[in-house]
Amino acid sequence: MNPNAVPFSRPGRGPAWPPALRTLPYALALAVLLLPGCSALPGAQPARLHYVITVDPGAAGATVVVTATGSVPHGFRMLLPPQGRRRELHPLAALEEGEVAVPGTSVRYRVYAPGPPHSGAGFACYRGFELLAQPAGLQPARLDSITLEFRLPPGQAVVAPLARLAHDPDAPGRGPITIRREEFGTLLESYVALGDYRVRVVPGVPDRLPPIVWGRRGLGATSEAELLELVEKLLAAHVDAFGPDRVEEPLSVVVDYPYSGHGFAGNATGRSIDLRLSRDLGPADSPGLVRLVSHELAHFWLGGAFRFPKPEDHWFVEGAADYYGLRARVATGLTDDAQAGDELADKWYEMSGNRWLHEPMEDLGRHFNDEAEAFTASYARGCVTAWALDWRARTLGRPALAEALKSDARGHDHAPMRQLLATHLRGPDWKPGALGEDPGSIVGRLLGPEPELPLAEALAAAGLEYRAVPTQGLTFGLERFEPGTTRLLSVPPGSPARTEGIRPGDAIREVDGTPVGDTVDLEIAIERSYARPSYKLEGMEVTYERAGTFDRVRLFAAPEVRPMWVDGSGERAGQVLP
Ligand SMILES: [Zn+2]
Repeated sequence: MNPNAVPFSRPGRGPAWPPALRTLPYALALAVLLLPGCSALPGAQPARLHYVITVDPGAAGATVVVTATGSVPHGFRMLLPPQGRRRELHPLAALEEGEVAVPGTSVRYRVYAPGPPHSGAGFACYRGFELLAQPAGLQPARLDSITLEFRLPPGQAVVAPLARLAHDPDAPGRGPITIRREEFGTLLESYVALGDYRVRVVPGVPDRLPPIVWGRRGLGATSEAELLELVEKLLAAHVDAFGPDRVEEPLSVVVDYPYSGHGFAGNATGRSIDLRLSRDLGPADSPGLVRLVSHELAHFWLGGAFRFPKPEDHWFVEGAADYYGLRARVATGLTDDAQAGDELADKWYEMSGNRWLHEPMEDLGRHFNDEAEAFTASYARGCVTAWALDWRARTLGRPALAEALKSDARGHDHAPMRQLLATHLRGPDWKPGALGEDPGSIVGRLLGPEPELPLAEALAAAGLEYRAVPTQGLTFGLERFEPGTTRLLSVPPGSPARTEGIRPGDAIREVDGTPVGDTVDLEIAIERSYARPSYKLEGMEVTYERAGTFDRVRLFAAPEVRPMWVDGSGERAGQVLP
């Protein structure tokens, strides 16, 4: 960075906005609502479930009515999502003519739209499990049919990974959609987005990729063609890494533009991802957008094709999605190998000063949701660890980690990653008690509370060494925020903000007494403060909020540290990926 420039951004790298957390199956602690079992009705008819999803124009939400009709097996119950801020369960109103009332098997509830910045006019997406109630205690095999009926105001559409939509995006407007039992299972794990989406279908690639039901709402700087090209390129790179996955089952991608500036966030669940992007920055100006998309698409395998239901594997789900997202970007030429090294160095640098560097990494799965440092560490430490282990596999002459996933992580009940990775590194010929070092022991050491040494060893064997060198550039240390907010996700160690006591999780509220609501405001305020003649004497006054309490500090920009991986010649490494 030019020392005279405003110390806000990091040129050539872009802010490292992390993608939003991926909600894992274990987090979906669905409350089971046990309703009285009901015996079969006279004249045993096949069991049917009929969902009516009504969106009221103008209302911030949708009403869902689930009616089970016909003969319902004994012990039928409804499994409902937990009640919460976004949902209320109402007793069923009067049935419509022709419906068969089965006591306790019909339910009506309302789903509320999320508030800004995740929403806007119309409303954004809901996970399928939130929108639909599912039958439990009733094997899906015993259900005769499931139909979905969408009653939407004009101009509204459905985006979901449904075969019917992949053939005809307008199908929901034509009446009830009948779906297969297996498809219903997929849908319950995926997003169902309702709103003013323009829906289109991206055709599949035979034997490689399924069709994509693609829904976009709002206008952003990224053109439809640009974004589609990015998604198709990255998906192809992920297929190369992991092989195809269920090419007959569609994927869905939901795109909204709630942010401005460098705000990007995404989620992946089941066969769907949603991307919440900046209105005013496209892929050319924002490495953050490309990172986000590569990470979320990796979840179609990491968490999709390969399941990780155990909380202790959470670090791997997010870390490996970051790592393989990075690999996909390098494979497609979107990022070069040396830049990949810079990103991996940034992540390791970010961990210095993060308390989760010295905690067992598997505990992250229980804390990432409510602690900013744990959230950051899930990605940063997880990614660097996956990378080091992939190198370890290479230097031991073992196949890459992706091969271990393909062969051993397909089912729900595979071994925990600690065990699976150690077994992979040991290879088929290793026996417990064998002479010499256990090639799998590095897994436990990397996941434990002292990972620095094993990490340095694994990478030294690859000819790489970590350095953090001061630069001419200046920084305040206010760089990484939760998208759409001024809440810090990390504060670089040794930076002015960190030295003055600002910590991850704190929200910046004012700069020199001027309120700042988002990172665009903040960037402008910092530029203004830095340009003031009095800055040299007074510095920049920053007010931040922590747990409802406000505090004020004065910051003077200081030299920025640039972390990097160097090779044997001591220069920035040109090749960092195994
Ligand atoms: Zn993720």
